[in-house]
Amino acid sequence: MHDAFQNALTQLARAHDLKEFPRDLIDRLSSPNREVRISIPVKMDSGVIKVFEGYRVQHNNARGPYKGGIRFHPDTDVQEVKALAFWMTLKCAVVNIPMGGGKGGISVEPKNLSKRELEELSRGFVRGMFDVLGPQKDVPAPDVNTTPEIMGWMVNEYALLSSDTSGASFTGKSLLLGGSEGRVTATSLGGLYVFDALSRWYGVPANASVAIQGMGNVGAHAAELFTAAGHKVIAVSDSKQGLFKEDGLDILEVERYKKEHGTLFGYPGAKSITNEELLKLSCDVLIPAALENQITEKNASNIQARFIVELANGPTTPEADEILFKKGITIVPDILANAGGVTVSSFEWEQNLSGEHWSKEIVEEKLKTIMEREALIVYEKSIALKTDLRRAAFVVALERLQSVMN
Ligand code: NAD
Repeated sequence: MHDAFQNALTQLARAHDLKEFPRDLIDRLSSPNREVRISIPVKMDSGVIKVFEGYRVQHNNARGPYKGGIRFHPDTDVQEVKALAFWMTLKCAVVNIPMGGGKGGISVEPKNLSKRELEELSRGFVRGMFDVLGPQKDVPAPDVNTTPEIMGWMVNEYALLSSDTSGASFTGKSLLLGGSEGRVTATSLGGLYVFDALSRWYGVPANASVAIQGMGNVGAHAAELFTAAGHKVIAVSDSKQGLFKEDGLDILEVERYKKEHGTLFGYPGAKSITNEELLKLSCDVLIPAALENQITEKNASNIQARFIVELANGPTTPEADEILFKKGITIVPDILANAGGVTVSSFEWEQNLSGEHWSKEIVEEKLKTIMEREALIVYEKSIALKTDLRRAAFVVALERLQSVMN
């Protein structure tokens, strides 16, 4: 069993081995500033009160208010949330936005809740965490199984408790509630901008074959955007199963089918494969867009992709990293590849605080500028230090953190 927080600390130690940073900086980043655990009682439709456990980990706010998503998942626990919060600190520093790192979660299978129960739970999270949240303290956003609608309930609950109607306490809201243009696609689009920039330097073909694990917000938009950019998406999957078609899937058809049937099972236009088979496909680009610890020492030696673009957080374990590095596979690390989401979240926060609403064109232009600029900085660091992109991204982030934490 892989512990995501332990993996994060191993990554930190590897960056520190490459470039020595002050010991106290490494020690301070090795544990979060604060961990909050709450019990959230919810009156179920049956009339019974059920108590759920919620977490918020505030890892570091040296560069700005804590920022990071809230995850609803049955396997979510405080160790996972700690790792995700740690990566947020590093991620915000890699893209140089004025935010720190935080993350939240509730151990719950949201599919088992009615809409009313889900709303109660979401509002209960905000009531329990109220003291530690706020536009200048900690600004949550969506993550796995949390949606603009859930952010809407949360921001409303926060406004009721605080009288702050700026909307800047949560990002990833719907447009009607002060969300930003381009937020829903931001993580995937940011990943595409980074990939495009890096593939020029690494010589990846213009019409790359792409396999994507996970078909949620991030995976599905990545499939659409990579297709629109001229690439060929040959495989996708959800938690239950995957689809493979060598000459490329019709993504919109696949999404329509999944929406209509609630499953990818039985889709007529492609071969059915498992998630494990998807990871091992021969392709130019593999995009993990589901959960942590998918590429491990058990399957890394069977990976055939040339490029891995980590749109999920923590999909590759440190042991797998070593194996893939030796195989010459380039990994675009999560703290760079999926930072488009938090970048546009920071735009949303900025727009809410200033009462502005930027057009989609402006949002995407600003996102592109940041992602391309920071991809180049990480790439150049990897060349200068003769290392992989993950270690290089960590060093870039640590240098920026060091400058405000000494
Ligand atoms: P989501 O809930 O919208 O989708 C998750 C997807 O993963 C679903 O399709 C689900 O079926 C699939 N999945 C779950 N378990 C799986 C498994 N074992 N194997 C294969 N597929 C599985 O979540 P999302 O927002 O798309 O987030 C996906 C990843 O991207 C997470 O790691 C998240 O932390 C990361 N991320 C999300 C954002 C964001 O803006 N939403 C930003 C940065 C990073």
